[in-house]
Amino acid sequence: MDAPDEIASIPPVQLKLDSKFKFKCHSEVKCFTQCCRGINIILTPYDIIRLKKRLQLSSEEFLAVYTSPELLEKTDLPVVTLKLMDDDRQSCPFVTDAGCIIYEDRPTTCRYYPLGVASLSHKDGAEDGFYFFIHEPHCLGFEEDKEWTIREWRKDQGVDIHDEINADWTDLLVRKRSFPPNLKLIEESKHMFFLVSYNIDKFKAFVFETSFLDRYDIDADTVEKIKADDIELLKFGLKWLKDVLFKEGSFRLKEDAGASKP
Ligand code: SF4
Ligand code: SF4
Repeated sequence: MDAPDEIASIPPVQLKLDSKFKFKCHSEVKCFTQCCRGINIILTPYDIIRLKKRLQLSSEEFLAVYTSPELLEKTDLPVVTLKLMDDDRQSCPFVTDAGCIIYEDRPTTCRYYPLGVASLSHKDGAEDGFYFFIHEPHCLGFEEDKEWTIREWRKDQGVDIHDEINADWTDLLVRKRSFPPNLKLIEESKHMFFLVSYNIDKFKAFVFETSFLDRYDIDADTVEKIKADDIELLKFGLKWLKDVLFKEGSFRLKEDAGASKP
């Protein structure tokens, strides 16, 4: 969730994994679910995979119903945010008075809250970045007495697995952000970024229903794994994307690949 305008200008206190803070969120707090309204949540690729499975939708259906497109500042890359309800509080579609109805599959940003994360280095991902408090005035959780380190909070909220699966995506965003502003990606590259990141079912069709596997030298084990598991497919897709965008050379073309194009 993004910091509101009135506090966005305060430089964040940089927290590391062993930094401590006091916080507790529970259904008895007076502000219960206030943080689930009027928010801006950028969804990660793993968020989409979990949510579409939870809601039994295809990735295309999930994108159409629950997301809005956005360009990510300084990266010029297309991302999606959770589309809010058209009610007077701009509520998240999953919030009720009793709490979050998809809690076990809530997005990465909701898990981090009340923390934000900044990745400083594309080599090391979020673990090597820093954390900061999203100190929204309505959030009374900071008045509670439960103490955490950032490391403990991440574990408790199940953030680690999200960051691990999204690591190549985060790396890609951070690397793209470090490009000079005049170095733009072509539209086709942005389209592929969106496809791999968000529309995993369509990316699967791209891999298995075009000449992709005739062009690239991919071992049989990997082919089986990415066919059976969306998370493996996502990890594969992100590595391929980085290879294409940053010319890393880790995906080998077959010798006769010039004959056909996906
Ligand atoms: S505003 Fe803070 S304390 Fe209140 S429900 Fe949200 S996270 Fe919990
Ligand atoms: S997904 Fe759940 S936790 Fe996140 S904003 Fe919506 S209701 Fe709140």
